[in-house]
Amino acid sequence: MIESTPRVASVEEIVAELRRRSAFVMVSHVKPDGDTLGAGLALGLALKRIGKRVVYFQQDGVPRNLRFLPEAQLVTRDLPADLPVDTLYVFCDMSDWRRAGEHLPPVARENMLDIDHHLGNSLFGKLNFVLESECSTGTVVMHLLRGLGVPVDAQIATCILATIMTDTGGFMHSNTTPEALELAAELMRKGADKEEITREIFLRKRVAATKLLGRIIDAMRFEHGGRYCYSHVDDAMLEKTGADGEDTEDVVNVLLGQEGVDVAALFKAIEGEIRVSLRSGGRINVQAVAQRLGGGGHFRASGLTYVGTLEEAFSAVEAALIVEGL
Ligand code: 5GP
Ligand code: MN
Repeated sequence: MIESTPRVASVEEIVAELRRRSAFVMVSHVKPDGDTLGAGLALGLALKRIGKRVVYFQQDGVPRNLRFLPEAQLVTRDLPADLPVDTLYVFCDMSDWRRAGEHLPPVARENMLDIDHHLGNSLFGKLNFVLESECSTGTVVMHLLRGLGVPVDAQIATCILATIMTDTGGFMHSNTTPEALELAAELMRKGADKEEITREIFLRKRVAATKLLGRIIDAMRFEHGGRYCYSHVDDAMLEKTGADGEDTEDVVNVLLGQEGVDVAALFKAIEGEIRVSLRSGGRINVQAVAQRLGGGGHFRASGLTYVGTLEEAFSAVEAALIVEGL
């Protein structure tokens, strides 16, 4: 059989595949955010409404700020033993299946559906539904919900609105298109709880998180005439403030927000691993920067894991930024 080049499938092809299968595992990426989880929960809820069996897999626990999402309490890293052999694994919001983590048992390509909006998705599934122009994976899922003809109820609407608000930074980022705002309005009319999403994902902070923010701000450094701002967080800082890795999630945006800054990086040296979050004001493509170092993401928001010392990570990221025009 001749393998054809992977391509992006149509809504009709995906819907036919969803109807054909009886059981589904919705797969979120490690260090989950509101998009990967909200997209999976929304599609999972819709599939349950048409009588399908749905399991939610996520290697890491549900972060505190996402526990309000409908069905979040059902998310597990331990899959049931009695799943049928043709269970479809639906990977949400990841350019490569490896982002699901090493805890996921091996899945045949035949049983992989890839739903995403990242630049440079590797089209790893049997079917791939990747729409790079969409602001979130949840809005990609919306096309499938319409295709399936499942009514969007308040629970599904909350999940999808959470994906939009997560990936647009609460309607602030440049991916906040008129279409995204129109869809958000439609979801609110269907009962999406915008107040709860705002409070849980954006407003409520632990005191420990605010103390940690203070330390990260103290450690800020500015390079290249103040256009590049970076800082770090390590285990000692977490211990001194009582914060944990979850409390570092949106801190990089504070760095990007400093006057004159074009591009920002937060280096997280936590539990023996260095994770780097990159954000751009729009001039430099941080997806390309992250990809040079084995990571990925979007033009203005990307990330990677660095193997080496913190000082080496600082140098490697700065070098990659320079190649990309810093
Ligand atoms: P964050 O800085 O919030 O962890 O990630 C920002 C964006 O980059 C997200 O869209 C995320 O999916 C993507 N990203 C973060 N880390 C990685 C990584 O290690 N590999 C890839 N391919 N994408 C990443
Ligand atoms: Mn996303």
